[in-house]
Amino acid sequence: MIAIGVPAEGKDEPRIGLTPETVKKLVKAGAKVTVRSGAGLRSHFSDQDYKDAGAAIAKSDADAVADADVVFTVRRPELSLAKSMKKGAALIGMLDPFSDAEGLDALAETGVALFAMELMPRITRAQSMDVLSSQSNLAGYKAVVDAAAAFERALPMMMTAAGTVPAAKVFIMGVGVAGLQAIATARRLGAIVTATDVRPAVKEQVASLGAKFIAVEDEEFKQAETAGGYAKEMSDEYKKKQAALVADHVKNQDIVITTALIPGRPAPKLISKAMIESMKPGSIIVDLAAERGGNTELTKPGEIAEHKSVRIFGLLNLPGQVPVNASSLYAKNLLAFLDPFIDKENKTLAIDWDDELAKGTGIVRDGAIVNEMIAERLGGKGAAKVDSKPARAPAKTGTAKQAGNGRKAPAKKSSAKRQPKGDTTP
Ligand code: NAD
Repeated sequence: MIAIGVPAEGKDEPRIGLTPETVKKLVKAGAKVTVRSGAGLRSHFSDQDYKDAGAAIAKSDADAVADADVVFTVRRPELSLAKSMKKGAALIGMLDPFSDAEGLDALAETGVALFAMELMPRITRAQSMDVLSSQSNLAGYKAVVDAAAAFERALPMMMTAAGTVPAAKVFIMGVGVAGLQAIATARRLGAIVTATDVRPAVKEQVASLGAKFIAVEDEEFKQAETAGGYAKEMSDEYKKKQAALVADHVKNQDIVITTALIPGRPAPKLISKAMIESMKPGSIIVDLAAERGGNTELTKPGEIAEHKSVRIFGLLNLPGQVPVNASSLYAKNLLAFLDPFIDKENKTLAIDWDDELAKGTGIVRDGAIVNEMIAERLGGKGAAKVDSKPARAPAKTGTAKQAGNGRKAPAKKSSAKRQPKGDTTP
């Protein structure tokens, strides 16, 4: 029988990776599920809801995970949680694999296998497991709703006997998953919506949602998409042309939602201080890229900044502000990921490390970093043992130290801390 454990998240994280709905499915598949008492409360799932679905309730995080073969988390947990787990058990969550190399090493040394859901390959088979999509979609929605609530005017055009209220103008920068949902939400609220991106593929999607696409459509734009469907870093020349276009457009907008990201790089700066100063008083910017440094020059991650009567929302973890839906979708992503690794006949855990989903997301196995991309980004080339087979040496005497040794040497230590370079398209 597979044992699944779910601890409580830290105080800043309202989401949870297990819902009564996924408990039922896991129990039906032959799993024993244990959840820490109160862990679902911020998503409005009570202990009783989990019990009714067939889960056991544990008094502490350590009790919830002690016997687990698989532990589901939202964020990378404290080291103490991994120490409470069985060696070889799998910890699956959004483990933020590009940051805090030392922390990742310490987790690796516990002998727990680590799977980072952010690294899920973007292939058709994995769509139901794609946490970036499920969470960004909600972030795009919440960004518009937050902006609309803070905006001191109405969004739709209203023709009344007392006069006409003009429709608000909303500009979406970056039309990935979050941007598309932001366009759809702003359109539903009756705004006049424009959008921009550097990838030509989005042009039609924008039009199909009833918004107008504006962009610098030169030769570079035609080549701006990677094979993985992500944006490339643009040349300085393109950036200049883009800035001129944006400057001209932004001054007439009421609400700007920025979502532009380039995998593995700081967020591109698309809105300068001067552009913000050109906006009308009362305008709102919601910067969904705040976590990665922000798309505007004045974004303060975690805060609402105000400059000359323009407010810039740099709030973090927007999906966490819609925790009921975010947890529901995230828990389904986790279930969909685990399902192929459940041996349905014997009802045991059978992770196939050669499967492309396990290869893509699996970052640590038997104490060693087994994901080439993570090893290179964190420790420099060759710092980690990279092998699709498990490293046999026990963590404390060999592989974990090897995985981390590049980082502990002064020259490489700095490389572990800096922003990862290059295209990290999974
Ligand atoms: P993302 O979060 O990496 O980036 C957000 C958007 O910002 C992207 O559209 C990007 O092109 C844009 N951007 C980057 N630099 C910019 C700049 N300088 N100016 C303007 N815009 C800029 O993207 P995402 O939401 O992860 O989506 C990336 C792509 O992957 C999309 O096409 C999406 O539809 C696709 N996708 C595919 C699958 C699948 O399973 N096949 C799953 C999810 C998403």
